[in-house]
Amino acid sequence: MTMVLVVGGAGYIGSHMVKMLDQRGCSVTTLDDLSSGHRDAVLCGDFVQGDMADPSVLDAVLSRGFDAVMHFASFIQVGESVQQPAKYYQNNVVNTLGLLDAMRAHGVSRFIFSSTAATFGEPQYSPIDEQHPQQPINPYGRTKLMVEQALADYDRAYGLKSVCLRYFNAAGADPEGQLGERHEPETHLIPLVLQAASGRRPHIGVFGRDYDTPDGTCIRDYIHIEDLCSAHWLALQSLMGGAGSQAYNLGNGHGFSVQEVIDTAERVTGRKVPVVNEPRRAGDPARLVADASLIRQQLGWQPKFADLDTIVAHAWAWESRGC
Ligand code: UDP
Repeated sequence: MTMVLVVGGAGYIGSHMVKMLDQRGCSVTTLDDLSSGHRDAVLCGDFVQGDMADPSVLDAVLSRGFDAVMHFASFIQVGESVQQPAKYYQNNVVNTLGLLDAMRAHGVSRFIFSSTAATFGEPQYSPIDEQHPQQPINPYGRTKLMVEQALADYDRAYGLKSVCLRYFNAAGADPEGQLGERHEPETHLIPLVLQAASGRRPHIGVFGRDYDTPDGTCIRDYIHIEDLCSAHWLALQSLMGGAGSQAYNLGNGHGFSVQEVIDTAERVTGRKVPVVNEPRRAGDPARLVADASLIRQQLGWQPKFADLDTIVAHAWAWESRGC
């Protein structure tokens, strides 16, 4: 049985991953300090509450013995990373290097890392493939790129094998309705639009209508959380099978504008979404769309829920749970 440590397994992506790993027969342990995750989101496996910044916590957990580590415990807000870079460098870089050190000390040599489209910065062409230059334009993107670079060096020097998955826009919810997005505060477009549809928020602010796109709003590549997790699963299989380190871009290859997301939400929910036009948000590129051909070719990844209606419908089922 494959033993997997999921760091940050109580968060949005981590919790879906824990469920998938368990369903596919892995022995899963979650390490999470619950600073932003939720204990009740960890549906399976062992749970250890602890801070990955603490070497004694890492030492105790890793003593259990693992085949691989997946790491979802990072800070993810671009704007906050500009205001509080120290918080981001400390957690996303220093604490991740601490995790890698602890893995080396315990002989764990497979690592799956949550990276991001933000490592590319302002796109020079679209869709973005793995050859695209990585020139992040905010501290969040820089912290993720630093870890990617460290991982390449750690492979050469220590034989640590890693897969970096560069997420575009993770969205949607568990198709069985058990899990979904619960960020505090919520900053992501789809849950915010759905909260505006349900009346939990008065409106959705559209950040800029003057971009160089067909309707003037920003275009993003939304990928269903289950498809994101299936990519991690395939990455795990490849590392377990002895494959070398690799980085993959992860998205559907289709861009949808903010306005198209709002239109889709109105169609799916049958409700009106109140909209307020707001200024551009600093650091938002007009268009971020993935070329995910490499992971399709090398790992056989195929998204199951590529259409936006399904992504929004699953997120809506989660948003309206208990209603
Ligand atoms: N966005 C928006 N209003 C909001 C939140 C997001 O117009 O309240 C836009 C944002 O400018 C971006 C897109 O929605 O173009 C997706 O933003 P999100 O924060 O969900 O993800 P990001 O692309 O920043 O990773």
